[in-house]
Amino acid sequence: MAVSGASGWPTLPALPDPATRAVLDSGLLAELSYALGGPFHFLLPDAFDANLRTLRSALSDAGVAGFVYYAKKANKAAVWSERCAANGAGVDTASVGELRDALGHGVRGEHLVVTGPAKDGALLRLAVRQGALIAVDALDELDALIATVGPDPVRPARVVLRCLPPAQPHSRFGLHDTELEAALERCARAADAVRMEGFSFHLSGYAVQPRADLAGRLVERCLKARARGLVADRISIGGGLAVSYTDAVSWRGFLAGQHSGHYHAGKSFTAGDFYPYHSPAAGAGALRALLAARPEGHHRNLAALLQDAALTLLLEPGRALLDQAGATVFRIQGVKDRAGYQLLTVDGTSLSLSEQWFHSEYLPDPHLLSHDPDAPAGLHPASVGAATCLESDLISWRKIPFPRRPRIGDLLVYPNTAGYQMDSNESSFHDLPLPPKVVIDRTERPRPRWRLDRQRS
Ligand SMILES: *Cc1c(COP(=O)(O)O)cnc(C)c1O
Repeated sequence: MAVSGASGWPTLPALPDPATRAVLDSGLLAELSYALGGPFHFLLPDAFDANLRTLRSALSDAGVAGFVYYAKKANKAAVWSERCAANGAGVDTASVGELRDALGHGVRGEHLVVTGPAKDGALLRLAVRQGALIAVDALDELDALIATVGPDPVRPARVVLRCLPPAQPHSRFGLHDTELEAALERCARAADAVRMEGFSFHLSGYAVQPRADLAGRLVERCLKARARGLVADRISIGGGLAVSYTDAVSWRGFLAGQHSGHYHAGKSFTAGDFYPYHSPAAGAGALRALLAARPEGHHRNLAALLQDAALTLLLEPGRALLDQAGATVFRIQGVKDRAGYQLLTVDGTSLSLSEQWFHSEYLPDPHLLSHDPDAPAGLHPASVGAATCLESDLISWRKIPFPRRPRIGDLLVYPNTAGYQMDSNESSFHDLPLPPKVVIDRTERPRPRWRLDRQRS
């Protein structure tokens, strides 16, 4: 941040990542951009494996039995299901398509959890047959599930009851106290049709303490449910482990320095519009902090409560498993001069960098890969527009201070985009093709090894 930050143009440098750096330096991206003829994403499965390992270490170091499900909505690529299958991890799915995809890439049925509201009959039937864990979100859903299993069950429906978080009473998800009571009663009555394995939640935001507090309450709920003869041996804390994209100093400097003059068309953002691009406790660090936190009303930490109750902790991280696991590559196809900055047009759209669609902006600085080594160096602020006819379709409203003058044919590489940016909003608007995903199985010398992802949409 020092140099260009001091010049008055806020920057947000991504945390250094050797694997991404190796790909940038390899020359591969220019070849792929030419070969694929449009924007593309690249994926780094080794990073996913490493993130899974660090989460598992956090659990084992705290002496807590746990199981990690990858929240599939964060990125559709097949390679993540393949990695889950290879590593014995689970997948969190919310549709027949996601469930089928995870199974088809080798994840075992009993390693799936099905979340999402008002799951339809086809999804419930498939989940029961595959032995997947089902996070029940409403009483009518529980009734439908019990009816699906029928009176002579071959196998029971495996169920956790999703709780409406008391601290987020306006959430549209989960059961409130009286509904939970009724659900427990119905589970007990359903006998062999239902195996009530515990409770779950998923909180908005990234704070650790509210998760510890609610987890503490679910531990108590499990103990009470067991007293009624139910299994209740696990709780799921959902997702929401924060990811740090940048360091603390850069993030603070960015927020303090940015104003509407730094954006195309004088657009303005407040700090609350942005994802928190730095968190003091992120990824496995956030999990460690959670396990070490003392839930409200308890004098021991969450890890100790889980151990004492012999409970398994289930997690459904999406973003945290995808940290540093991919990036997005656009080619500059037009450069306009505006007063004091340039307006670049790239070969893709903000539908392939989703943050724009949430009243926000993806802030980590893109890398400029110049094809012309003689491009003038210096400070060249530029905003980045999309190849569409929408006035508002910008990938970066921010005037990013590039270290060389961007030219047609240069590549812009947005770092660390695998979590939520790539495909949640993608469409073939304007009849533009969807950006393919390139899996880079090996980043080190002599050459990166790449292939196309096997996902079918
Ligand atoms: C979205 C979602 C997750 C994943 O959240 P992250 O913030 O990506 O970790 C986990 N569980 C449920 C129920 C979700 O809806």
